Amino acid sequence: MGKAAPSLSETGHRLTRKGRELCIRVMPISGGDDGGHALVFGQIADGCLVRIHSRCLYGDALQSEDCDCGPELDKSMDLIQDAGCGVLVYLEQEGRGAGLVNKARGLRTSERLGVDTFDSYERLGLSVDMRCYRLAAEALTVLGLGSVQLLTNNPEKVRAVRDQGITVTVVPLGTRPRSDKARRYLEAKRKRRGHMIPVEDAPWSAQIRESHQPWWCQALSWFRRGLILVARIVTIPEIWIR
Ligand SMILES: [Zn+2]
Repeated sequence: MGKAAPSLSETGHRLTRKGRELCIRVMPISGGDDGGHALVFGQIADGCLVRIHSRCLYGDALQSEDCDCGPELDKSMDLIQDAGCGVLVYLEQEGRGAGLVNKARGLRTSERLGVDTFDSYERLGLSVDMRCYRLAAEALTVLGLGSVQLLTNNPEKVRAVRDQGITVTVVPLGTRPRSDKARRYLEAKRKRRGHMIPVEDAPWSAQIRESHQPWWCQALSWFRRGLILVARIVTIPEIWIR
């Protein structure tokens, strides 16, 4: 006979991180231990911060600089600690759901052929992203949340939580890539998967825009800037006259 699953309150204990303590409780999400866990920090309520994070051994545990997973998790936890409460749903979906071995095969293919990891997965006959966020969204309902602030750049996560009937306010993480490789990975996620990466603020986006614009487009852009400048010079004395 199997043991009854412990209640959330039976798992409560204190966790120390970056010199600060906070209360944590742990709940397996439906689908079993292999599906993932919801880590509940402090006393949560509607509108609290939520991060849905898929496992990335390299980024999360080894602090790899090749992707943005580590900094995203770190920043999410910083924000949850600052707020005093929140939820981290940690899903065992390594390698965009393909597993660690396939992720390594994909990275090897990327290195050898100079393609992004989405292309690599396609060349290996794998789905480019097998992750599913339905169980994570259901876990938020089990926790009694009707609205959340979702720490994410990923529209799939937003959609899954909204489909669960939960009101979502998106809080983009806007982490800075720590290497050219991570920068290229972020660009691939933005272009291939529609991730809400803040390109206007990103230092690489200006370079990409400039280099991809034809000469006449850049000339037009400078002409427009000139017109705006002239308009300001002309209108300012009129305001003074009034
Ligand atoms: Zn990663």
